[in-house]
Amino acid sequence: MDWLAQRGVALEDIAAVVLEVQDQFHANLTLEDCLESVKAVVAKREVQHALLTGIALDMAAEAGAVPEPLLTILRRDDALYGVDEVLALAITNVYGSIGMTNFGYLDKKKIGIIGTLNSRQQPGMVHTFLDDMVAGIAAAASARLAHNSLDHTR
Ligand code: MG
Repeated sequence: MDWLAQRGVALEDIAAVVLEVQDQFHANLTLEDCLESVKAVVAKREVQHALLTGIALDMAAEAGAVPEPLLTILRRDDALYGVDEVLALAITNVYGSIGMTNFGYLDKKKIGIIGTLNSRQQPGMVHTFLDDMVAGIAAAASARLAHNSLDHTR
């Protein structure tokens, strides 16, 4: 959570993405429900490991501490570089196929904080991995809500 905060991402920002995409599927869904789901996702060790790895690569690229040609690829957020999306699947995999399809949707739509990170509004910063990590957390938190509400209707 400290690393996310240092990189300009609050858990509330991720919860807002979850609320926007899940509101239509759940009656009376609140930002607090979404925040609770986001917190449950980032509490998982697998998720933390993916997050730390992605953020560390972004920070190393900002510092120039990555060898070429990878440095240029990461700084440009090259469209053909897909390892950032693959690493995000380590987050969504925790919640199975619903997590994966949610991630595909968020990766295309770039809602809220995901779009902010992707548009690289802060010069000199690299968010090649972070936008996908955040989309992965939002997708997993959405899938978790879906699994929980399906359980309750049984
Ligand atoms: Mg990316």
